[in-house]
Amino acid sequence: DPLTGLPNRILLQDRLLQVIRAGRREAASFALMILDIDGFKDVNDSLGHQAGDHLLQEVATRLVSRLRQSDTAVRLGGDEFAILLPGVAHGAGAEKVARKLLRTLEEPVVLGDRRVSVTASCGVALFPAHGDEVGVLLRHADRAMYEAKRGRRGFLVFTPAMDEEGDNRLRLQVDLEQAIGHGDLVLHYQPTIDLVTGKISGAEALVRWQHPVLGMLPPAQFVPLAERTHLMGPLTFYVLRLAATQARAWAEQARPLPIAVNVSAVNLDDNEFVESVGRILQDAGVASELIELEVTETALMRDPERAQAAIQALSELGVRVAIDDFGTGYSSMTYLRKLAVAKIKIDKSFVMDMGVSRNDSVIVRSIVDLGHSLGLKVVGEGVETAEAMAVLASLGCDYAQGFHLARPMDAPAFDRWRQEHA
Ligand code: C2E
Ligand code: CA
Ligand code: CA
Repeated sequence: DPLTGLPNRILLQDRLLQVIRAGRREAASFALMILDIDGFKDVNDSLGHQAGDHLLQEVATRLVSRLRQSDTAVRLGGDEFAILLPGVAHGAGAEKVARKLLRTLEEPVVLGDRRVSVTASCGVALFPAHGDEVGVLLRHADRAMYEAKRGRRGFLVFTPAMDEEGDNRLRLQVDLEQAIGHGDLVLHYQPTIDLVTGKISGAEALVRWQHPVLGMLPPAQFVPLAERTHLMGPLTFYVLRLAATQARAWAEQARPLPIAVNVSAVNLDDNEFVESVGRILQDAGVASELIELEVTETALMRDPERAQAAIQALSELGVRVAIDDFGTGYSSMTYLRKLAVAKIKIDKSFVMDMGVSRNDSVIVRSIVDLGHSLGLKVVGEGVETAEAMAVLASLGCDYAQGFHLARPMDAPAFDRWRQEHA
């Protein structure tokens, strides 16, 4: 590898073949470790490529200085290294080496006028316990590294359960990508009602996945997956197209109803998000007042300034934004005042526990008052009983949504419900 002077991936494969052959002959064992620097992209992005290169060279030097003559360290590419440890037969032995390496990396590195401390994640596969082929060992060490990184564990030894989980996740990801293309995602609609007039005031679109093998999957089983991969944009835009088409159909049948669509925090990171929303509404031929977007309070607080700008741009498009799951994040009054939102939705946990916990009714009352003092409409979600609805009404809450009124329904069922409750 020209940058670090370490051997590269090709040499590693060669060495692995050798030790595997020798291992089979002499019943010897070894450990294969994959080490990946945490947050390397941030260093590159904020300090520049030169600093990034320097960091990789420093990491390489430190790794080599801590290894034995018989060990081999290679750079696999990017910020990923592999280390071959002959004679290491158990997880405990590998862990000792890994901890030692992680500790040397943590000593500050000077990059220009900065001192940065590096952390990394290590995964280990053992020969022959976790595989006796080059490809299998590399894959298993990589799986372990991935799990170590995901769980912020620093170091993990491969277990067969990791493999299965990885396979499942990958399969589900491929399936989801196809589902978005093939129309296997469907929307259910749940009404909200106006607590003063008792009339329907809108619908929230809630996505479901009609999976060919696993059946109807709730969003909790695939939205997080979409958020971790590149699929959150396509999913949100797909849902938005379906909702816009439905909103237009209702408008053409002379019974217009605003539809709320959920937006993930990840969507707000997309610089072209607002533009895409505008284009989708235009293509669907639907008035922007008929689509609302819901963003959770937590998502807003992840990058408050960016969120504020996005919401401002959306409201200029005529698209109203509601803060979802309000009460679970930590937004301040000052921040809320700056946001061009139209509504807040009280998190259902508070509404559902109003009857049980006095604290929760105090919270609900405060949120209603806070919302009104900022000139916002307030929705109570998770209304499961007539009592909860009555309490919300008495607190001056504007809208209600929940199983007591209706569960989310597919479009035909929703139409029937609406007719019965007109
Ligand atoms: P959410 O936005 O808070 O949506 C309300 C969830 O509460 C829905 O669950 C709904 O079925 C449920 N719910 C409604 N009334 C009641 C009630 O009275 N009691 C109880 N216990 N639950 C009630 P669902 O459909 O499983 O959706 C869960 C979450 O998944 C949503 O929470 C939302 O965050 C996310 N989600 C759903 N559809 C989409 C989507 O199209 N895009 C994105 N990004 N997220 C979505
Ligand atoms: Ca919502
Ligand atoms: Ca909610």
